[in-house]
Amino acid sequence: MPDVDAIVIGAGHNGLTAGTMLARDGLKILCLEKTNWPGGMASTKELFKGYKHSVGAWAMIVLHQEMIDLLDVEKHGFKTIVPDTSYVVYGEPEDQPFVAYNDPITMANKIAEDHGPDAMRGLFDLFQYLRIYGKIADQERLKAPESIDKLIAEAPDAETREALQRLCYASAMDIIRQFFPDPNKHRTIQGSLAAMSIDGTHMGPYTPGGATSMAFHYTASDAMNVFKLPEGGIGALSEALVRALEAESGEVRYKAQVKRLLIEDGKAVGVELRSGEKITAKVVLSSIDANTTFLKLVGEEHLPFPFTEKVKEIDYRNGYIQVHMTLKEEPEFTGHLAFTNENKMKWLMAYIPSADHVSKCWNEYKNGQIPTDPLAYCYFPSMIDPTVAPPGYHTATLFSHYFPYDTPKDKLREHAGIMADRAIEQFAKYCPNFKDSIVDKLVLTHHYFKTTFGITGGDFSHGLLHPGQMWDSRPVKGASDYRTPIGNLYMCGSACHPGPGVTCVPGYNSARAVMAELAAADSDLVAAQ
Ligand SMILES: Cc1cc2nc3c(=O)[nH]c(=O)nc-3n(C[C@H](O)[C@H](O)[C@H](O)COP(=O)(O)OP(=O)(O)OC[C@H]3O[C@@H](n4cnc5c(N)ncnc54)[C@H](O)[C@@H]3O)c2cc1C
Repeated sequence: MPDVDAIVIGAGHNGLTAGTMLARDGLKILCLEKTNWPGGMASTKELFKGYKHSVGAWAMIVLHQEMIDLLDVEKHGFKTIVPDTSYVVYGEPEDQPFVAYNDPITMANKIAEDHGPDAMRGLFDLFQYLRIYGKIADQERLKAPESIDKLIAEAPDAETREALQRLCYASAMDIIRQFFPDPNKHRTIQGSLAAMSIDGTHMGPYTPGGATSMAFHYTASDAMNVFKLPEGGIGALSEALVRALEAESGEVRYKAQVKRLLIEDGKAVGVELRSGEKITAKVVLSSIDANTTFLKLVGEEHLPFPFTEKVKEIDYRNGYIQVHMTLKEEPEFTGHLAFTNENKMKWLMAYIPSADHVSKCWNEYKNGQIPTDPLAYCYFPSMIDPTVAPPGYHTATLFSHYFPYDTPKDKLREHAGIMADRAIEQFAKYCPNFKDSIVDKLVLTHHYFKTTFGITGGDFSHGLLHPGQMWDSRPVKGASDYRTPIGNLYMCGSACHPGPGVTCVPGYNSARAVMAELAAADSDLVAAQ
């Protein structure tokens, strides 16, 4: 008799989602987590006494209300904050800042007012165009995906087929230029679009295939381009999921790193922890990336050729920094950004002057250089969520893409510090009290995420958002249905369809695949009796 019905490796939000679903189905669940807190790359941590920081993910950009409802996490204390605006993207004083209002009517009116009717039209038409991709993404979201090429071929007409083809394989700039033909107009809007398209890629805005990430990011949520926050930081979701799991008699064990899978006759029968303890189970679900799961925990000797070769080819090159700070006073923006002090608009400021600026940073990164003027997002969650800082004080977190991926270990701290200072400078330029208000500062890089959460390359996507790594090629072609070549072993994290971000979807889909398989096995047993 196995010790438990199912072991889930990793208590990130996807592992916990899978565990909760299976526990609700009556299974005895044990979730094993390497660190001593839940949430993985979407955790809330007290990095500085008295403050809460979202480590890793910080905004709910791709989470559907449907998942919140399906998992019933609000019953377990999860609360969403929806600000009036999602972000302000700015450049130099001659560049009109781009404010993303969450109410679509206000957004349309303000864009027309601030940027002109052509910008409003361009953005509206672009979002309509992206919805062509969104429609099939929605159709495929809660199931094992079809091949994207099959879906394109089956599209109802030539126009849709061409749009889908472009949204999967063109560069982000090909798409952006279709709606914003003049590179010198509406620069901050174009910059904002280009920056979204490089997230989770090893690409620049002009790299073919970059449109995939753009289409993914704008259509993965139920509300296009709306950033929300969980009260108490991003880890609040996983904390609610832990409560949900425990309410069904499931268990999360921390400081329980899985060293290897126990495999008998091509089937997973349990795991061995780093401590040497062995735990057996009917099924094992892994929420960690494919490279680590298969090449480190399973071992090539158990896997068929060419599966292992495909796993080795997954691209995980994703360099970035995340800087967590505490502030002794509220940042006050001046000059062309003074208006952001009203209505808490400044809660998320992004320095992205233009699409070509993003491209310049990409080219420096590609050549192994720290970007001279890094594009960066800086957000101040305490302005809209007072639970994360003591009264009168604030939290700030800065995120910047393109920290040279191959920075040698002995240079990581120094180079990350240089990049953080350069990025902070871009905010301080129009926020004179920013630098002096910083009390504490901690600079993290992809290397931190790699070592802390055991994720290959520190890639927060668990496999980049490249065209050859999405849909039925995620994690690799032939293994996109959450099952693996090892019997009773399933994948349940961001490495699977539909991909990264705080969505809960891979965990949810994987749990359903496990339930279906266990139900089929039970009915086979009954039939045989
Ligand atoms: C800097 C940064 C910014 C981001 N910003 C956003 C954002 O704003 N919005 C958004 O939606 N997404 C964002 N993301 C992406 C998002 O955080 C991830 O896609 C998501 O959290 C992945 O969730 P997961 O549960 O699939 O995997 P993970 O969070 O990686 O969870 C895997 C878990 O497994 C554990 N583990 C690993 N190895 C073992 C082992 N051998 N034994 C036991 N346990 C193990 C890890 O400790 C971890 O807890 C960001 C990520 C980063 C790093």
